[in-house]
Amino acid sequence: MASIVLQDVAKAYPGQEHTPILQGISFTIEDGEFVVLVGPSGCGKSTLLRMIAGLEEISGGEIRIDGERINETPPARRGLSMVFQNYALYAHMSVFENIAFGLRLARTPKAEIQAAVRAVAKLLQLEHLLERRPPQLSGGQRQRVAIGRAIVRKPRAFLFDEPLSNLDAALRADMRVEIARLHQQLKATMVYVTHDQVEAMTLADRIVVLGPGGVQQVGSPMHLYQRP
Ligand code: ADP
Ligand code: ADP
Repeated sequence: MASIVLQDVAKAYPGQEHTPILQGISFTIEDGEFVVLVGPSGCGKSTLLRMIAGLEEISGGEIRIDGERINETPPARRGLSMVFQNYALYAHMSVFENIAFGLRLARTPKAEIQAAVRAVAKLLQLEHLLERRPPQLSGGQRQRVAIGRAIVRKPRAFLFDEPLSNLDAALRADMRVEIARLHQQLKATMVYVTHDQVEAMTLADRIVVLGPGGVQQVGSPMHLYQRP
């Protein structure tokens, strides 16, 4: 588990130094908390998540994970796992190999990989699909593989970038329940970007609303969506 602290974070893409897309972003994500980032398309949600992941340079301010500055921690030691909207699975590898991939890179012993992948497959009900390749899976199954690949590395925090937006409504509802269950079981910190208000309401401990001027509001779902 991990706490994530953002202090006055700014981002301008190269060549656009005079028009930063994010500025003065400050908030704290507590250990084990489920924080959902919402806001209009293009306001920088995905950019912010990628900065937390260390995949995107920070133009100003700082991000600390358990007190350590993210840009000074090597990627392998950050202990973060990101789940993407397009799943980003390897089409030519089996489900087993997709889930095992990060562990193999880390030179985890084979027996340990076997055990870890089996445990994750059981948790996500993928046991009968381990030999298949992603093109032979449904959208929901692919998304579960992507989540499995994130879980197997036992991250301190999960970063989700609109993970359900490619799924149809029924599957989205199922996966929402699944992700809520995972959060309860793993007790890991989760940061979750979505434009779906139902996802935000049902999953979040707290919601951070981003807008053109930066953070517009922070509060619990009850607090933010309360009718006056
Ligand atoms: P959101 O996730 O809220 O839809 P993004 O973080 O994807 O927003 O994008 C925020 C803004 O930054 C958009 O205007 C987008 O066009 C721009 N942007 C995103 N990625 C890049 C990039 N690699 N280079 C330049 N501009 C980018
Ligand atoms: P290598 O090329 O490393 O000798 P293999 O291609 O035979 O290994 O298999 C890769 C590793 O992944 C092995 O540890 C193998 O047992 C495991 N593996 C691959 N697919 C599955 C699967 N569907 N179920 C269980 N283990 C699998």
